[in-house]
Amino acid sequence: MTASPPRSADCSRCLALCCVGPSFAASADFAVDKPARTPCRHLRPDDGCGIHDRLRSRGFPGCAVFDCFGAGQQVVQVTFSGARRRVPAMFDALEVLRPLHEVLALLDEAVRTPLAAEAGELRDRVEAMATLPAEALGGVDVGAVRREAGALFDEVVAAAHAGRPGPDLRGADLLGADLRRRDLRSARLRGALLVGADLRRVDLDRAELLGADLRGADVRGARLAGALLLTAPQLEAARGDAHTTVPAHLDRPTHWTALPSAR
Ligand code: SF4
Repeated sequence: MTASPPRSADCSRCLALCCVGPSFAASADFAVDKPARTPCRHLRPDDGCGIHDRLRSRGFPGCAVFDCFGAGQQVVQVTFSGARRRVPAMFDALEVLRPLHEVLALLDEAVRTPLAAEAGELRDRVEAMATLPAEALGGVDVGAVRREAGALFDEVVAAAHAGRPGPDLRGADLLGADLRRRDLRSARLRGALLVGADLRRVDLDRAELLGADLRGADVRGARLAGALLLTAPQLEAARGDAHTTVPAHLDRPTHWTALPSAR
């Protein structure tokens, strides 16, 4: 029986694919430019990161929040049968598997809802795609998978809101917005730009956060425990504290404890 594809990264079973394959541009997330398929200047010969314990202070918060959802070790250990050296085709595989693994992580949440049957059926199909051989991965229509999953997630959210939705803020530009007085319970914040937004002590119970950009959002004291379709890298990108509640299936980011409390 084939093992289920992993949902979280195990860099010890990868070949630093995410430190070589993607490009990045000098910005608030990365201190330098890096072309695609070129090793990062901080990548050590043993495939470890030379600044792993200082990513944020050295100007690489984008690396601190990046999550392959286990796609990297799936490429190395399964698609390439435990290969010991990087080859270019691994990056092609990663570009397909990373979004598939993200969808799988979200479907794991969806199978715990009234849409369990539909989510389980789609999860089975996406898991089968994630275990395809390298030469077949190019035929996977990632966009179609995302669209199908997105429609299912719409149903998950509608069921959770039970006919009482909050404000529809899908795709809204809320960059730096002070949202402390907004009632965001059951809000639809899919794809919303919440970079640097002030969400201190905001109750986000049943708020949909699928794809919301939470980089630098201040969620100290916020109630995120009941938020819908929130992922680990989104939490990592936000700034919370000991009073922020998080969904039971997600870990509290370790860097939050160093932040001053909102209370
Ligand atoms: S800074 Fe570290 S984690 Fe980020 S790409 Fe470079 S080696 Fe990888």
